[in-house]
Amino acid sequence: MDLVLAHLYPQRMNLYGDRGNVLALQYRAAKRGLNFRVVDLEIGEGVDWREVDMVFMGGGEDSHQAMIYEDFLERKSGLSEALSDGLPMLAVCGAYQLLGHEYVTADGHKLEGIGYLNITTRPGGKRAIGDVVCESTLSVNPKTLVGFENHGGQTFLGEGATPLARVRLGHGNNGEDGTEGAVQGHTIGTYLHGSLLPKNPQLTDLLIFWAVTRREGDDALIAPLDASWELAAHDVILKRVKI
Ligand code: GLN
Repeated sequence: MDLVLAHLYPQRMNLYGDRGNVLALQYRAAKRGLNFRVVDLEIGEGVDWREVDMVFMGGGEDSHQAMIYEDFLERKSGLSEALSDGLPMLAVCGAYQLLGHEYVTADGHKLEGIGYLNITTRPGGKRAIGDVVCESTLSVNPKTLVGFENHGGQTFLGEGATPLARVRLGHGNNGEDGTEGAVQGHTIGTYLHGSLLPKNPQLTDLLIFWAVTRREGDDALIAPLDASWELAAHDVILKRVKI
């Protein structure tokens, strides 16, 4: 089976190894015999969302978010429709912020988002930087997710928005309410860089599973696949932060 991943703005939205998420998806899909193809979408490059099975967009500095957000807004109706229709998407940090209603940058610029996730982001007092350990609300095994955060924005979930995880170590969405990220349907927004998927194979597999079942129907399965190296990397972080 072919799977097409649309990678939004790989040149401008790619911090702290975010592209590693694409490599992890590609690796674990290919190991299962899936023909995984990545289509890079930069500013002005169109796509037919009906031909896409998964979307990834990484984080970016405020200046880079400002460069791409108008183009991103132009994709609003097509992308929102596809996400509402179950298209899986992983959005990290700066991308996560722009999936919400708005992101107000550190110097007070308001960047409108596509409003798919019911979240808003405003500047926090101090940047949130460091390792993050959290417990996912998704049915994944292990529940623990590890990553690295570095963001100035503080994100607050609106009514009905479901957090991706509960923070055990780090700041997560805002350093106040103990939430990290947001999930709606098959869309995952998160502050976790690092990159996230190579150290959290349970999330990689969930995204692949969502993409395959969307194509083949709810009964479709993906083959079990050894994840001992990935989980060893996951455990190194847990040991390093002594949690
Ligand atoms: N520029 C945004 C912030 O500082 C996002 C940063 C990021 O993607 N790491 O909050």
